[in-house]
Amino acid sequence: MQKVNESCQLKEYFNVVNGETCKPQEGEMARSINPATGEAWAKIPLSKEEDAEQVIQSARKAFAGWSSLPARTRGDYLREIGDMISEHAEELLTLETKNNGWVIDEYRYLAVVLKQIWYDAAGAAALLGGQGRTVQIGGGNFGFTMRKPYGVVVGILPWNAPLFTFTMKAAYALAGGNTVIIKPSEHAAVGSLRYGELLAQVLPPGVLNVISGTGKDIGNYLVGHKEVNKVSLTGSKATAEIITKATAHSPKSLVFELGGKSPNIVFADADIEQAVQGVMNGIYTRNAGQICVAGSRILIQRSIYDEVTERVKQYMTDKAYVKFGDTLNTTNTMGPIANEAQYKRVCSYIDETTQDGGEIVFGGKYGGKVLLPEQPEYANGYWVEPTLIKAENMDQKICKEEVFGPVAVAIPFETEEEAIQIANDTNFGLAAGVWTKDLGKAHRLVDRLEAGNVWVNTYGMVGVDLPFSGVKESGYGSDSILDYTYEKACVMNVNE
Ligand code: NAD
Repeated sequence: MQKVNESCQLKEYFNVVNGETCKPQEGEMARSINPATGEAWAKIPLSKEEDAEQVIQSARKAFAGWSSLPARTRGDYLREIGDMISEHAEELLTLETKNNGWVIDEYRYLAVVLKQIWYDAAGAAALLGGQGRTVQIGGGNFGFTMRKPYGVVVGILPWNAPLFTFTMKAAYALAGGNTVIIKPSEHAAVGSLRYGELLAQVLPPGVLNVISGTGKDIGNYLVGHKEVNKVSLTGSKATAEIITKATAHSPKSLVFELGGKSPNIVFADADIEQAVQGVMNGIYTRNAGQICVAGSRILIQRSIYDEVTERVKQYMTDKAYVKFGDTLNTTNTMGPIANEAQYKRVCSYIDETTQDGGEIVFGGKYGGKVLLPEQPEYANGYWVEPTLIKAENMDQKICKEEVFGPVAVAIPFETEEEAIQIANDTNFGLAAGVWTKDLGKAHRLVDRLEAGNVWVNTYGMVGVDLPFSGVKESGYGSDSILDYTYEKACVMNVNE
């Protein structure tokens, strides 16, 4: 994202406030960069506090009307959005792909998922009225509960999966009767601004608003505002810390979906080819490793360590398997890193590991000029080769910190107990994978791995009917209808 002068002929995308698209009042427009080329391709608002105030008032004003609708009627609106998704899916996916470099073919499933989420939220809204409980208290007192919305919810998005996180936050918050403000990342706001514009055509004015700007300019203001009742962040631990401090003077309900350093554990008794595919799919070919659940620590039983790393190497160095290039070309399998700051971060982890004598099994190169020498249009893009680093001890920085790119470590282990100990030796607790044919072993690991999500003989599968959240420093709470409503209790004295 770069500041821009008004003479540039780039398509502009605006905030969505009170049902209309509008330029920031106080803020200015900025360039959005296509990470494949490093060039500007669109303009987005760089809003300021006055714009944030306007959006809060829009959501606040709409709350009374939206929350008093029968939950089923809110569900009807959400179903209509689900019906609309297919019509605009290709446009939205194209914007998103240019925005954050996710290759379009890999991303196509998202259109189906978005639709499912809106339908699921519509169904959840329809059931909300029946979610209360009755409680016999005794002594002539009758207790009951009902689920109520919090009020204005602010959803803060990361750059790696804006449309997905937008939908998870907005759909269930709206189903619960809240009104919503979405703040996409300043690095990838275009898809969310257009998405908000489309949703505003279905929903009553002010019910769903989108505002683009930096965390420093508007994020702090939004989350600290006393008329904002709930904040759901998908992002880094560093931002969660800032939000925790910023909300201290105006406490509110918080959901934090944060990062991970997830173990993907391969036992010698696994189907090795299946495990190799799962290991690669867990990190390299999924948005170039820029997913929160990336299996970035590959734990391999020592007796098959060389075989597994060698097989992964063969796939990853095969030019037909990993194809870089135009993210809109359906034959390409891997895109760039989503923005310049993240690109520099990923490269610095590779450089530091090599300087410290770390052994690279494959990869380690970066830069458009190096990886795509025959395609000069990508010379300044943020391209990084899939990289695997051998690691013998967990004290190395690369084994502890989230890189958030196509960089993994391969760690050997001897026994089941040691695998569990290494897997849990992290501050994060988002996800874990286990590859084994031994059902008993699989159950023991599922039980003992400290992670919100565990996959056995598969990796990264999520379902709208399953919860998704982390433990430890990977966050707490989730984007579900129960998390977007609170349970209000009432006791009635029924004595004559
Ligand atoms: P980030 O924390 O840098 O930014 C996330 C969002 O927070 C952005 O919209 C940013 O503008 C906003 N922000 C920054 N400072 C703020 C402030 N002071 N007040 C309010 N908002 C502020 O994260 P990122 O780099 O965009 O995303 C990558 C991170 O997100 C990784 O750690 C990744 O693991 C995590 N992530 C987690 C999940 C999950 O579901 N657990 C999913 C996707 C990504």
